[in-house]
Formats: sequence, C-alpha cells, structure tokens
Amino acid sequence: MSRTNGTATLEPTRTAPIAPTAASSTEEPRLFQRVREQMDRAAEAVGLAPEVRKILAAPACEIAVNFPVRMDDGRIEMFSGYRVQHNNVLGPFKGGIRYHQDVSIDEVRALAAWMTIKCALVDIPFGGGKGGVQVDPATLSRREVERMTRRFVYALGANIGPGYDVPAPDVNTDSRTMAWVVDTYAATLPPQERYRALAVVTGKPVSAGGSVGREKATGQGVVDLIEMWAADKNCKLRDLTCTVQGFGKVGAWAARILKDKGAKLLAVQDVTGAIRAPGADGLDADALAEHVKKTGGVAGFTGAKAIPLGEFFGVQADVFIPAALENQVTGRTTRQLNVRLVAEGANGPTTPEGDAVLRERGIDVLPDVLCNAGGVVVSYFEWLQNRGGAAWNAAEVDQRLRDILERAYARVKGMVAEKSLDWRTAAYAVALRRIEQVYAERGIFP
Ligand code: GLU
Repeated sequence: MSRTNGTATLEPTRTAPIAPTAASSTEEPRLFQRVREQMDRAAEAVGLAPEVRKILAAPACEIAVNFPVRMDDGRIEMFSGYRVQHNNVLGPFKGGIRYHQDVSIDEVRALAAWMTIKCALVDIPFGGGKGGVQVDPATLSRREVERMTRRFVYALGANIGPGYDVPAPDVNTDSRTMAWVVDTYAATLPPQERYRALAVVTGKPVSAGGSVGREKATGQGVVDLIEMWAADKNCKLRDLTCTVQGFGKVGAWAARILKDKGAKLLAVQDVTGAIRAPGADGLDADALAEHVKKTGGVAGFTGAKAIPLGEFFGVQADVFIPAALENQVTGRTTRQLNVRLVAEGANGPTTPEGDAVLRERGIDVLPDVLCNAGGVVVSYFEWLQNRGGAAWNAAEVDQRLRDILERAYARVKGMVAEKSLDWRTAAYAVALRRIEQVYAERGIFP
C-alpha cells in the first residue's frame, strides 16, 4: 500500500478472519450466526457447492480501530470503529457506515454479509462490507461528529478506496457525513490523484458529487417492491394501508412516496413513541417528516394521537414496514401483527422466531436483502456517474432502479416457485447461485 495512516499507533488492526465455527459467547444477539444459518438453509435448498458455503462462512477481512477525538471542551475521547469486508468476488466491498451505541463486531459482520447477499441478488458488481462506530451521535455536537468521522476515515486509511471498498450512509449517518469522508480521504491522496476521491463513498450531497435520487432510493425501492407484490395480488398501491416502524431516511421516504401513490399511513413508531392516525385518511407523511426533522422523533406530532407500543404492532393494515434496527419483528411482536405483508426496509428486522411465526400465520415477507436494495443500487449508479464524469437525471435513475428491482423480484419469485421456498430463503438462494457461478468460473487462487 502506498499510503500510510501517519502514526503507527493508528494503524488499523487486521484480525484474522474468524473460523467458521468460532463463537464469541459474550456477544448478544449473535447476529452473524443468524446470517450463516440463513445462508446454510438456502445453500441446502439449491445444493450449493460446499466450498462457496465455506468461503462465505467468515468475512474476508476485519478492521478494528481505536482512535482519539478532541471534544468541544478540549478533552480527548477514544472511539472504537469497525469495517468488515465480507466478500469481494463480485466487485469492491460495498456497504454503509453506522453510528450507534450498540455497534459491535458481530453486528457489523452480519451487516457486511447481508450486503454480499444483497448485491449478488440484485446483480450489481459489488461485494459486501459494512462499518460502524460505537457511539450515540445524539450525545455529540455537530463539530464533534465531524471530527470523529474524519478521524475514523483517517484511521481506516487505505482500507477504503474507490475500486476497493466503498462506504455509504446507514443508521445515523447521511450525505453530510459522506461529504466529510470524501474530503478527508482526498486529503490523504497526493494532489494529482485527488480527482478519484469522489468515488470513495456514495450517498454524497448532490452538489458534492452525489446522485440525484440517492437520498430517497431505499424508500423508493421499498415502495417499488410493495407495488410488485400488490400487482401479484391484483391490487394497487392506492388500495393499501400501512404502518411504519422508524421514521429516518428509509421509513420517512417510503411513507412519503406511498402517500404520493395514494396509500394510507395508519400508524408510526420510533424511539420517541408511537402514533396513530386520527381518521381513515391516514397520517400526513410529509408533515410528519418535517416534525421529525425539527424534534428528532414522531412523539408530539399534532396530526396524530399517541398510542402505547403494544397497540402499534396490532394496528390492522395491509403492509407493515420495519425501517429501524435489527430484531424488531420477534416471535412476540409477530403474533400481534395484523397485516398481510411485512416489507423489510431495515436490515435484519426479523428474528428467526419471528420468521417462523410469519410463515405459520401466512403473512408474506419481502426480505431485507431484496426490499431495501434500492439504496445500494442507486449507490452503484452514483459510483458509475463519478467514475464516468456523468450526471443522470431523476427519471433515468428511477427507471434504471425499477428495472433492476423488477428483475430481482422476478428471480426470487421464480426461485420460490421452482424450489417451494419462502421468500427469504429464495432470495438468499438466488444470491448464492450468482456467487457460486463466479467461483466456478474463476476458481480459487493459486
Ligand atoms: N446502508 C445501506 C444498506 O444497508 C446502503 C449501502 C450502500 O449504498 O452501499 O443497504
């Protein structure tokens, strides 16, 4: 590698990939184990080559960094961050960076593996990666978040790069965060090479090299997929009612686009509370998004009545969109659900027990790796535009996204029919077959 991080103490630690059977018993929940079990189920169903299963059972590379950040009052605080690079046989590692107090190496591993599956499923030339810093950003000032972001990028050093590992926004990070990543990364390159810094992350502000349509892309994809599901049930989006958990980038955009298409938003829940529409017309998703922007949560929104959390999960609607964190659709909450479809905007919202209850109750699922893939698909478009010096318009982005998602939906539907599988297992099976194909053609070095 030609670049260094400056001080030796800041060099990222590359840990050896964990052994396929390794278990770190202290980490709860064991999210990566869950992903492996999901992959195993799909691998069995399609008779996947055993070596592919073995390769995907552990991330290719894990980077753990501890780095200092100066706080506004002059103190120095240490932060822990991770970047897990799960697999790159299809292309550069790709996946977001999240800031959350619950970030752990186990969670980041799982999220990275989901990116591998997601990119293979929608057939874009990226592998899977994910990063995170263990911090509640609400406890930091904007300047502190900026300094923390810059130090994290500096600590990652040459472990990220436009043709190697390309981060993006995730929970509690956004286009502004990505602008800091580009700026910091560019500063580490010789001046003559800085032109290529733009493609080191996606999800940038449009004015700073981002793509039109990237901010709403995950929500747009969720809506596109719900529309495909609805068409299979002979209904239209305007006939549907929905409930949404989480009103951040994904939940709010999905709700706003659904509103434009005539669907009714009946209830919303986030960390600040749960609210329900007072009448049959539903909540005004645009006004709610404004309220959340100003106050930080859905609680206190004047156009709604507050309800207890228990009541939220039981609200009768056609579609429930979990768009917050993992492990929300559990055995218990799934028994309360009164919906026909769970459209997973979040990554890993459904626990294995929740999945079993969904199957038992005959509730359809659009699994995360399909349902929320719109984000990374438009990230791919952004990366292409950056590398080609191009700027696509909104209609072009939306249409290309729709085409890719329609093809992925059809592949999963075909697999469901061919192998009599549930949608999650079928989605994994399609992705694993795609990866298997490349290993079969390329072989394993040496
Ligand atoms: N964080 C998003 C996801 O989980 C987007 C990743 C990306 O665009 O690279 O899919």
